[in-house]
This record gives sequence, structure tokens and C-alpha cells, in this order.
Amino acid sequence: MKPAILGGKPIREKSLPYARQYVDNEDCIEVNKVLKSAFLTTGPKVQEFEREISNYVGAKYAVAFSSGTAALHGACHAAGIGAGDEVITTPMTFAASANCVLYMGGTPVFADINLDTFNIDPNEIAKKITDKTRAIIPVDYTGQAVDMDSIKDSIKGKDIVIIQDAAHSLGTKYKGTKVGNLADMTMFSFHPVKTITTGEGGIITTNNKEYYKKLINFRSHCITRDTDQHINKDCGGWYYEQLDLGFNYRMTDFQAALGISQMKKIDWFIKRRKEIVDIYNEAFKNLEGVILQKNPDYSDTVNHLYVLKLDLSKLTVGRREIFGAFQAENIGVFVHYIPVYWHPYYQRLGYKKGLCPKAEELYNSILTVPLFPAMTDEDLEDVIDGFYKIVGYYRR
Ligand SMILES: *Cc1c(COP(=O)(O)O)cnc(C)c1O
Repeated sequence: MKPAILGGKPIREKSLPYARQYVDNEDCIEVNKVLKSAFLTTGPKVQEFEREISNYVGAKYAVAFSSGTAALHGACHAAGIGAGDEVITTPMTFAASANCVLYMGGTPVFADINLDTFNIDPNEIAKKITDKTRAIIPVDYTGQAVDMDSIKDSIKGKDIVIIQDAAHSLGTKYKGTKVGNLADMTMFSFHPVKTITTGEGGIITTNNKEYYKKLINFRSHCITRDTDQHINKDCGGWYYEQLDLGFNYRMTDFQAALGISQMKKIDWFIKRRKEIVDIYNEAFKNLEGVILQKNPDYSDTVNHLYVLKLDLSKLTVGRREIFGAFQAENIGVFVHYIPVYWHPYYQRLGYKKGLCPKAEELYNSILTVPLFPAMTDEDLEDVIDGFYKIVGYYRR
């Protein structure tokens, strides 16, 4: 049920989504060219896109996948995650960051967040490390880089692989270095709401040749024609071997063409995202009833999401009513995320509510505000007006 609009007319006639891709004619032309070419898949565009991304982040290798989730699955395979292994991640993320561990038969372990940055807390990671810990999957929540040096300190001397879930943070820099060149493996997603899109799609960047080879194989059933990798030698020119259990997780060439074309616009995407975030920060910093996510100096952040925390002690209603009020104004808001282990599937696996109290507190009080490059200045004004109207109305 939609709550009544506060004071007659909604702020917007037409609804504003919280996120939306930006695809222009240039993108369509590039995709069309590939549709009429010899290769729709396993052609040259995928490699070109991989080079584009690896150059952009400064990593040696990149392996494209059919989705970010498939890419995370590939990274867990390359890291050798299996039954009995524990992998630490944050609950304040999309389910894929933990599901990829389950795909491999491993056990996700949730470490709580920091309530200033909303990112996984390296001290909480340290508390969760056991002799079964094989990997950590930190997530750059909203696009803000995790404190990678502190995370590395927390695992010093231990054989633990870091797989950075950078679905939100293409373009973000940590202490001057681009995300994508900090962890053992880094995943970017190209879902339409993310910084650039290929429809569905994802990629792993890495500097490690062994991981690279495993990732390449994994996305094609772990079947290879590379004779150096074959167990049986000299079996003929047609010969290929399946070395392990893999999947069909390939990106198509027309998706890669879209990605290459999108990368031509990334500087503008980033500039516009930063502009919008600056305007929001300025508008909301003095609005009593909302609390901003703190951005530490080490992160030069390209925000994928703009998340506001409601100061519920100052409001007469809960997040649910505030959320509904925005819907009534036709302003697209959302909640990122429900703590992963709250989902019924995870509850069935035995995870208990209360596991990460700070993440749960954050979940109860956040709202995601519209943020995408094609937003107009009027759209921005509407969102800000909406906050002043709704938070003003419900303030104690
Ligand atoms: C989008 C997203 C993913 C998964 O990416 P898909 O491309 O949708 O499979 C993983 N982790 C986070 C944090 C995401 O936001």
C-alpha cells in the first residue's frame, strides 16, 4: 500500500529509477557491426575487451565472463576453494559474494562492517580467521574501496587468497592505485546498473598467470586445446581435453563490443557520478535525520550507489514509512542490502540473525538514492526536495 502523498501533488509526475544504464547510438553501431561479423562468440572482441579492462586497471590479465557472479565462481575455482574451506565476506552485499563460495562446496563466514564506512571491518576479519580460512572476499560497498592494506595485515603470513568484489568500484582508486590491481583477483560486474554495462557480464583481473590459465579454462568447461596442459600427448590436431569440471560462462562478442564502446565513455560516467555525489553530499550534510557514509582519505571513490543512513532516533517513523513516502513521490529508492545470511536459504543452512549486529543496524536504516550518469540536474533537485519534504515531515 502506497502511503498518501504528503501535501497533495507528488514531486515527480514520472517515476525516476534509482539506477539506469546509459547506451547511445555509438554503442548500438558497435554491437551491430559484431552481429553481422563472423563471430558472435569466441571471437576477437572478447580479447579486445579484456585488454581494455586490464589496461584500464593496470593488471596483467583479465578474463571476461557471462556475469559477475560467474566471474566470482571462476575466482573461487582458481583459488582452489573446496569442501571444508572457509571464506570470509561481508553480509552487506549482494548474495553472489557468498553464493560463489557455496558453489564450490566451501563455507561463507560473515565478518561485520564498520558503521562509518559501511565496509567490512579488517578487525572483524581478523577475529574470524581460523586454520580453515582459504580466502577473503571483501566488497567495495557503494564503490568505496575497502582498506586493503589493513586487510592484508590481518592475514599476514597466512596462505589466504584475496578476491576483491569490485562490482561497484570500477574506476575507484585506493591510495592512488586503481581497484583491480590490489588483490589476488578482482571481479567487476557489467550488469546494467553498474558503472559500464555489457547487458550481463563480468570480469576477473589478476597479475597471476596460474589463476589466469585456470579462469580461461573454467569459463569453457575446463576444456582446452593447449597441448602443454594436456595429460595425454600427441593425440592429433583435433585433440582437446577436459581437465576439470567447468561451465559455459563465456561472454559473447557483441556484449564485449558494447563493453569496449562503453569504456570510451567511462571518464564522463565517472565525472558525472562524482558531480552528483558532491551535490548530494552538500545538500544532505546538514539535513537533520540523515547520516552520510564516511569516505576515508585512502579511497578516491567512484560511487555506484549513493546510500543514506536514516537517523531513526530523530524520526517519528521507521525506514519502511520513509521508503513508501519516496515511492509516493515517484522517486526511485531501494535498499542495498538485506544482510545475506537473513535470506531464508542461508537461515536453512544454519546462519542465525544477530551474527553481525552492525550490518543489521545499517540494514534497518538505509535508503539508496537515485544515482546514474544520465540524471539531469532537475532529477537531482527532485531527490533533494523529496528528502527535505519527507524527512522534514517525519522529524521529531
Ligand atoms: C552486481 C553484483 C554482483 C554480481 O554481478 P552480476 O553481474 O549481476 O552477476 C556481485 N557482487 C556485488 C556486490 C554486486 O553488486
